[in-house]
Amino acid sequence: MKGSALYSTVRLKCPRCHEGDLFQTSVFDYKDPLSMGTNCPVCKQKYHLEPGFYWGAMFVSYAISAFLMFGLLALFYFGFNTSLNAAFAWTIALVVVVFVYILRLSRSIWIHLFVKYDKNWQHE
Ligand SMILES: [Zn+2]
Repeated sequence: MKGSALYSTVRLKCPRCHEGDLFQTSVFDYKDPLSMGTNCPVCKQKYHLEPGFYWGAMFVSYAISAFLMFGLLALFYFGFNTSLNAAFAWTIALVVVVFVYILRLSRSIWIHLFVKYDKNWQHE
């Protein structure tokens, strides 16, 4: 629902108004996966708060990827009783599919840490 930071984060929306999109292209556009506008198209919130702002988002994406990979490996190996090689193959295949989303999600999480929802953004 609108106003929930979690909802806005996973849908890759602007942290301030929860309406504008953070990214300009579809998540399946692998050519330019991280192209963001300079401002929110709806409330004009700046997306790059300072030069190199998204550098820290790299660590978030490492953490999510590692967590996801261990989780998936355990799921295939223990849950589906596959061989370890097969578990690795499935895990890598799935992570490749969601890789762009993880990168974007990391940036989304990052900017949501710094910019809070402002329900009165229209009035400023
Ligand atoms: Zn906005």
